[in-house]
Amino acid sequence: MRQLVILGATGSIGQSTLKVVAEHPERFAVLALTAQRSVTAMLQLCLRFKPRYAVMSEQAAATQLQHQLQAAGSQTTVLAGTQALCDIAAHPDADVVMAAIVGAAGLLPTLAAVKAAKTVLLANKEALVMAGAFFMQQVKSSGARLLPIDSEHNAIFQCLPASLQQAVCTHQLHAGSLQQQSISKLLLTASGGPFLQTSLHEFPQITPAQAVAHPNWTMGQKISVDSATMMNKGLELIEAHWLFQCPVEQIEVVIHPQSVIHSMVQYQDGSVIAQLGQPDMCTPIAYAMAYPERISTQVPALDFSKLADLSFSSAEPARFPNLYLAIEACRQGQAATTALNAANEVSVAAFLAGLLRFDQIAMVNAEVLEQCAMDKAIELEAILALDQQTRLVAEKIIARRSS
Ligand code: NAD
Ligand code: MG
Repeated sequence: MRQLVILGATGSIGQSTLKVVAEHPERFAVLALTAQRSVTAMLQLCLRFKPRYAVMSEQAAATQLQHQLQAAGSQTTVLAGTQALCDIAAHPDADVVMAAIVGAAGLLPTLAAVKAAKTVLLANKEALVMAGAFFMQQVKSSGARLLPIDSEHNAIFQCLPASLQQAVCTHQLHAGSLQQQSISKLLLTASGGPFLQTSLHEFPQITPAQAVAHPNWTMGQKISVDSATMMNKGLELIEAHWLFQCPVEQIEVVIHPQSVIHSMVQYQDGSVIAQLGQPDMCTPIAYAMAYPERISTQVPALDFSKLADLSFSSAEPARFPNLYLAIEACRQGQAATTALNAANEVSVAAFLAGLLRFDQIAMVNAEVLEQCAMDKAIELEAILALDQQTRLVAEKIIARRSS
C-alpha cells in the first residue's frame, strides 16, 4: 500500500487523483490532503478518504475545518500554514506526493517532497518555470523520483525508451542525452484554446467566463486562461526544457485542436511516436501513480471509427504573443522565466478580477520582462526575491493601465 499526499487536493488535478485512488483502494492510502481555503470541499474529501492529516494554508480555514471535522467525529488532524504544507510533503510515512498546487505557491512544498526523496508526481509546472535549474539539481542530489503529470510531458515520457525514462525520473540526463538515443525533436501539442478562430479585433472584449471555457479540457481557472493565451504552452515548453534537458530549438509546438494526440517524440530515423487518448487527466495521473505498471481508469478508450479528422498547424505570433515571450525567456535563462512566471500570475489574476483586458495580459508580461533586472537567479533565495520584486513591478504596470 503506497501512502499518498495530495498537495492541492480540492483542485482539478487533486480531484482526478482522488478518482484514481477511489478505483484502486488496495494500492493507495491517503496520508494527507491539502488546500488553500475551500473548507466545504475539504470537509467532504476528509470524510470520504479519511486522511491522517488535512492541511489548509490559511489559518482561518484550518480552524473552521477543524471544528467541522470534530463535529462529524473525524479522526483527521488539521494543520495550518506553508510550513505545515512542507512538513507534510516530507512526512516520513509518505511514499508518493502529488504536487498539484497552482502557481508559485507550489514551489516550496514540492521542493520539500523532492528533498525528502519522495516519488513526486509533478503537475505544478510553475515550480520548474520559476526554479528549473535549482529544482532539477535537488532531484539529482536527493534521490527523489520525479514523474510528469502534465499530459504533454507524460505523453513524451511514455514515448521514450525505458532507459531514458529512468534517467528522466532521477535526473541523470545531460544536454546530449536525447541525441544519444537518436531523438531529434520533442513535439508538444496544443489545442490552441477557445480563441483559435476568433478574429483578433475581438480579443479586447474577451471576458473571463469565455476565457476559462476550454473546448476540450476541464481545468482550474489559472491554467484555463493560460491555455487561452497559450502561455500554458510556453510554460510547458520551459517545463520540457528542464525535465528532458532539451534545448528550446529541439522543442516544436504543434497546434492540434482535437487534443487526441497528447504529444510526440521524433526520432532521427524518421519515426514519430505519439501518445493518444481522451482529454482526461486520470490517464496520465494513473500512469504516473502506478509507474512502471499500468492500472485501469474509468476513462473510455478512443473510438477510432468516431474520431473526426486530426488537424495540425503552427501558432501565429500575433494571436499568441505569450507563447513567443516564453520561448524568448527560455532562451534568456532562469531569471527571465522566473520573472515571466510571476508577471503572468499577477496579470492573469488581474484579468480574472476584471482589472485587465485579455489582450493586455501579454502586454503586461512583455513590459515586466523589459523592466526586471535579469541577473542569474539560480539559488533559491535569489529566485524567491526576484519573484516578489517582479510581482510588484507587474502590479504597478497594471495599476497605471487601469487608472
Ligand atoms: P486548481 O485551481 O483547480 O486547484 C489548485 C489547488 O491548489 C487547490 O486545491 C487550491 O486549494 C490549492 N492552492 C491554490 N493556491 C494555493 C496557495 N497559495 N497555497 C496552497 N494551496 C493553494 O488548479 P489545477 O487545474 O488543479 O492545476 C494545478 C496545477 O496542475 C497547476 O500548476 C496546473 O498548471 C497543473 N496542471 C493542471 C492540469 C489540469 O488539467 N487541471 C493539467 C496539467 C497541469
Ligand atoms: Mg498540459
